[in-house]
Amino acid sequence: MRRRAAIWICAACIVGCLPPTASPASGPMRVLTKARAVHSLTVEEARRGYPVRLRAVATYYDPYVDSRHIALLVHDASGSVFVALSSPPRGPIVPGRLLEVNGTSGLGDFAPIVNGSSVRVVGKSRFPAAAPRVSLTDLLRGKHDGAWIEVEGVVRSVREIGRHVNLGIMLSDGFIYATTLREDGANYSRLVDAMITLHGNAVPVVNGKQQMTGVRIVFPDLKQVKIEEPATANPFQLPALPIDRLLSYTPKIVFQRLVRVRGTVSLQWPGRSVCIQETAAVNGLCVQTSETAHFANGELVDIVGFPAIGGMTPTLTDARMRSAGSGQTVVATPVTAEQAMQGDYDARLVQIEGRVIGKSRVAKDPTMVLAAGKFLFRVVLPDRRWASAVPDWEEGSTLRVTGICSVQIETIGDIQEVLSVPSSFRILLRSPEDVAVLQRPSWWTPNHLFPLLVGALAITLCVLGWVAVLRHRIAEQTAVIQNQNVVFRNLSFKDGLTGIPNRRQFDETLDAEFKRSARSLSPVSLLLLDIDHFKDLNDEYGHQHGDECLKRVAEALTSVPLRDRDLVARYGGEEFAVILPDCDEIGAPMVAERMRVAVFDLAIAHRGSGSHGRLSISVGCATMVPDHRDTSNSLVAMADRALYQAKLLGRNRTSAAAEEYQGSRTVSVVSPV
Ligand code: GH3
Ligand code: MG
Ligand code: MG
Repeated sequence: MRRRAAIWICAACIVGCLPPTASPASGPMRVLTKARAVHSLTVEEARRGYPVRLRAVATYYDPYVDSRHIALLVHDASGSVFVALSSPPRGPIVPGRLLEVNGTSGLGDFAPIVNGSSVRVVGKSRFPAAAPRVSLTDLLRGKHDGAWIEVEGVVRSVREIGRHVNLGIMLSDGFIYATTLREDGANYSRLVDAMITLHGNAVPVVNGKQQMTGVRIVFPDLKQVKIEEPATANPFQLPALPIDRLLSYTPKIVFQRLVRVRGTVSLQWPGRSVCIQETAAVNGLCVQTSETAHFANGELVDIVGFPAIGGMTPTLTDARMRSAGSGQTVVATPVTAEQAMQGDYDARLVQIEGRVIGKSRVAKDPTMVLAAGKFLFRVVLPDRRWASAVPDWEEGSTLRVTGICSVQIETIGDIQEVLSVPSSFRILLRSPEDVAVLQRPSWWTPNHLFPLLVGALAITLCVLGWVAVLRHRIAEQTAVIQNQNVVFRNLSFKDGLTGIPNRRQFDETLDAEFKRSARSLSPVSLLLLDIDHFKDLNDEYGHQHGDECLKRVAEALTSVPLRDRDLVARYGGEEFAVILPDCDEIGAPMVAERMRVAVFDLAIAHRGSGSHGRLSISVGCATMVPDHRDTSNSLVAMADRALYQAKLLGRNRTSAAAEEYQGSRTVSVVSPV
């Protein structure tokens, strides 16, 4: 509830950019009579509790959305402001009526609001005549936040949640939700696929730290929705669009409207996804849908939905489906991993062979990893119905799997690619019967080999015994030389100032751990730690003091308990790095936070601008289960992005980047810890 509450409080932050009309914090408290005057107060002024008396029209009234207070948005000629009411007003508040609002200024979760003490209907009025047409880009810029605005778009979804109705609307430049209180007897579903203009208040969504994370619209009633072009009457009777025409060039298109595609079901994970293939068995399509009705493989179906960018091939969103009779069972096309990687078989039923090399430990769904030639690919059987029926396919077995080929594409933003490049592929199974074991692992497994090796070893040891005596003397002499080598090696792998491993040691270790991790498909994490405002510290206390601080920071970092294979190194200048093999995206941020706190607890005074009075560090944290395309540089780049975000968010904090599976793509996501 608190998260939802935040949406409303910040609605008040919003309108207008006039200079404050109230007096400075030390001046007399004059009565504020305009919405914008309240809204334009500074944080300190708003907290002082200026008396507020407004005559304004109610544009939204919602007693249910926030357990802390009743939400009310009011508008006068100067702009809009949010009013929080702790108890229901005496008479009913109907949006569109003129109100007299008494109260005091206050600070909401984001910006100044009116803490209303009394609200009274004083007459009829009308909704504001002026509603500037805005785009999502405008709204996200914050320019029109809270204001009474107009948007144009196509309604894609309607969801009734308790007393509220949420419309999902695709504007010309992106998707937004609009919320209203449900009106008895109103038919909202007729809006799906209609092109509308909508009047309402724009309200930001916030993150609990008074920062905007998104935007939505609230509107008082259906009269604010004007249908410009009605929805397609019966989308299931639209002419069927060939799958390969989805999102292909259409001149002058502004909004994607509903389309119908027809094909034979090749996979259904009820409540999650459906894949179909056209009768000619050339083009496949997978859509995410909450449809739970069962469709048999080979059944002919119609799917209606809105074309949208998917992975390698487009998909449909907000999809609904219907049976269209029985079709021909889709026949799987045999492919090699190399062919699958070219992308042409995306969303199609294929058959492919590979050797089991393990199970993925990070995937949410039961996932096997197979190797074929130089490629690794994942095989996924997510349907919980099979969870107990899934045989434990032995490592080393050769399997032939039949399933939908789902190709992931490269999503690195700074590469100026014109063509999408496949980066990996997965095979989505329909049932355990989609797996045929072609070959069991060879008899020469580690279990069988071990006793044989022990016997052979015993004989060899006897023979070697006498050789050892001879070698002993040679060894004594070579030890002297080796000791000297160790001393030199240690010197070149240690940082001269702090005594911890240096960049060279870091590079070697990261490379080795990364390769090990790619082989065993286990996660590897990397922390990059950078001292905040260190230059200022040098400037204020001198370089020598700076050096002392670097030593103490290194001690603090190495004092945090770690495992044998973990490595803390000086990365360069005032940056440190920590390699955490076999440590996943949950463990790594915990280590990062312990290190950050250990440094902060040193309580080294730092009065530089922007510091917290003490020396602190920011930490970027990255986790990855590498596949054949990744390099250790990708992991360093991820950690670097996370560090950059930690700095941006204000320093003395940790941000984490991890690979996440979204839809049919793997993307790297950075988020604060
Ligand atoms: P930020 O919070 O953005 O990281 O600010 P910053 O000042 O720490 O960042 P910047 O990279 O601009 O400055 C790093 C400074 O670290 C520059 C240099 O004077 C100092 N530095 C680098 N190596 C050493 C060293 O070995 N000893 C000392 N005393 N200072 C060093
Ligand atoms: Mg730096
Ligand atoms: Mg720094």
